[in-house]
Amino acid sequence: MRIAVLLRDHCQPKKCNSECRNYCPKVRTGVEAVVIGDSGRPVISEELCVGCGICVHKCPFEAIKIIGLPEELKSELMHQYGTNGFRIYRLPVPKKGLVTGILGPNGIGKTTSIKLLSGEEVPNFGEYDSPPSKEQVLERLSGTELGDYLTKVYAGKVRTALKPQYVDKLPKVAKGVVRELLSKVAERMSPDEAAELLDLQEVIDRPLDKLSGGELQRVAIAASLMKDADTYFFDEPSSYLDIYQRIKVARLIQSLAEEKQVVVIEHDLAILDFLADNAYLVYGSEGAYGIFANPRQVRIAINTYLDGYMREENIRFRDTQIRFESHPPRDSQLTAHLLDYDRMECDFKQFKLRVEPGTIRIGESIGVVGPNAIGKTTFVKMLAGVQEPTLGSVDRSVKVSYKPQYIAPDFDGTVLELFTATNLEFFQSGFFESEIAHPLMLRRLYDKNVNNLSGGELQRVAVAICLSREADMYLLDEPSAYLDSNQRMEAAKTVRRVMEKRGRSALIVDHDIYFLDMVSDSMMVFDGIPGREGRANGPFEMREGMNMFLKNVDVTFRRDNDTNRPRINKPGSRLDREQKEMGEYYYSGA
Ligand code: SF4
Ligand code: SF4
Repeated sequence: MRIAVLLRDHCQPKKCNSECRNYCPKVRTGVEAVVIGDSGRPVISEELCVGCGICVHKCPFEAIKIIGLPEELKSELMHQYGTNGFRIYRLPVPKKGLVTGILGPNGIGKTTSIKLLSGEEVPNFGEYDSPPSKEQVLERLSGTELGDYLTKVYAGKVRTALKPQYVDKLPKVAKGVVRELLSKVAERMSPDEAAELLDLQEVIDRPLDKLSGGELQRVAIAASLMKDADTYFFDEPSSYLDIYQRIKVARLIQSLAEEKQVVVIEHDLAILDFLADNAYLVYGSEGAYGIFANPRQVRIAINTYLDGYMREENIRFRDTQIRFESHPPRDSQLTAHLLDYDRMECDFKQFKLRVEPGTIRIGESIGVVGPNAIGKTTFVKMLAGVQEPTLGSVDRSVKVSYKPQYIAPDFDGTVLELFTATNLEFFQSGFFESEIAHPLMLRRLYDKNVNNLSGGELQRVAVAICLSREADMYLLDEPSAYLDSNQRMEAAKTVRRVMEKRGRSALIVDHDIYFLDMVSDSMMVFDGIPGREGRANGPFEMREGMNMFLKNVDVTFRRDNDTNRPRINKPGSRLDREQKEMGEYYYSGA
């Protein structure tokens, strides 16, 4: 089965010469395999196109994909968005008493599946011209678990609650203070009870547009938990949260699932592993199609994901395996110092940061961990020269390149123009192509306007721009935000490789343990009272830093037997107790 897909946001008919149509051999012989539609964009006939791929190569904007799929999938097409539009094959089925995870790349239909399962959209089985009625959908799915589930949804017997993906849009759709918003959904608990569960007491009377990303995320989660629904969908609940909050939210969602159906889309693999019972892997091609594989027990699903190969389906969706080391990296004490700093302080009206003396070494990648609102970003800004310390100073002869936490697209032009304006020589080098552009999949973004990039695209571009500048030290504040699991691993490996190969240093603030594990040689640990006072300690070697940090979080990790990946221990389990006694919170077996 061959499908032609037009990536509408890549297609730029005003900037090309309709190469897709003009070079098509069928069109040249008078067969209208490609016609230009009303919008000026091409419409490819799946009956007439022979799949030669010429248009794919001729299109200057990589806007066409011709994809071959197993014939048997044809009968499992659940939904299609118009001619040459995105398709989704199969759907997950929520189960009572279980947390069902969904794991896969961005742009592959995970959020669409939630719309279909919540009844917001109705599957059309590819018949987008004359979509079936709900009754016809149920007839076609009769006798299946999905059919049984949707029967209840359409009959109003299953109420659904959704925590949306983009919580930063919340202030645009809801006005007023947090309490007002929560009062509207106070079915299972009161706003004050929900605020207590999610540590929102201090902001409950604050306007929504004055909240940080982490606060908005917790408000959105609270609003979902408060609803009296049967099926709950949480679309990326860990974004913007620190690890303390991630674990807390994971526990709340788990207890909800004791009597409800819960579906979670999550890119933080350590949290998904801790949170979910089973998981569906989704694979396919970004913007073109997504296929839901059969559900697996969550440990197996994540291991399969890291392996890049689904044995039962005989499908390889990544060329390489992702591996973890069970022992800490070699100590970098022997390398020369790049920056020594004495005690520093930074005072604000309501917050005070104290930085203990430390040393950053040449070629070292330092992970920075700690709760939100504890001063990590302030410290990075002090190193970047954006914030002056009130006590002490930073050696300004060390040249830095800085990627801030919140990235605003403030360049009027394409991604390509942005790269050439930043560092033309580096952009044209083989090093940039092989070590940065290829792993971060930047090529397909070059012709896009910077202002039209999605959150994940903008993050990849911002990381690449930061790494493209000439500097001694690279400061990356939350580079994994908005990236899917695969992009996170690639970004972590990219940062580390660039530092190793160019002999530069990096300081990386992040909350994703797998990301930090892959990127860091050493660790800085922040502690204190969030929003009041923070203390920056380190850098320490990884074992010491991880132990210090995880002791604060009160969480231990064991290693997966097959992949070595870190897995959160069940609180109070034998391993959890033993490791805490030994003081080994992370590298227990090494
Ligand atoms: S698919 Fe490519 S060649 Fe065809 S109209 Fe769009 S941008 Fe132009
Ligand atoms: S794949 Fe070949 S036949 Fe099909 S539309 Fe493109 S150029 Fe024409």
